Amino acid sequence: MPASPDAPTQLPAIDGWWDHDDAGVPHLIGGKCPQCGTYVFPPRANNCPNPACDSDVLDAVALSRRGTVWSYTENRYAPPPPYPSPDPFEPFAVAAVELADEGLIVLGKVAEGTLAADLKVGMEVELTTMTLYTDDDGTERVTYAWEIAK
Ligand SMILES: [Zn+2]
Repeated sequence: MPASPDAPTQLPAIDGWWDHDDAGVPHLIGGKCPQCGTYVFPPRANNCPNPACDSDVLDAVALSRRGTVWSYTENRYAPPPPYPSPDPFEPFAVAAVELADEGLIVLGKVAEGTLAADLKVGMEVELTTMTLYTDDDGTERVTYAWEIAK
């Protein structure tokens, strides 16, 4: 993750769901069954979801950075505790995105500044990251998000 001495510390809001490549480009991490090729997200180490498959191992793999909007909505109410929420609350969009290569549907926040009125089913989006909230010690907790593909 890019860092400078003055930048706040950044840590993933949830460990192990996404990472950056060497160029700083984010990607999701999924699980892939080596036996039948089924993908899962969030990643896990075992329990292939394919009922016809008896594999008990899922490999961690990088998932497509792009996909198309499958469905979306807009959240206009602050989530109740313990979920962190900015104060004052700002509405945000959530999109279910069908990943380009895997066909897997991944739900995520939509990057700040894009609301439901800006989205369409089938629209191409790509993965980015955004600060979800800031800890009491100033550490920024970062999550993945979808943005309209450039
Ligand atoms: Zn399998």
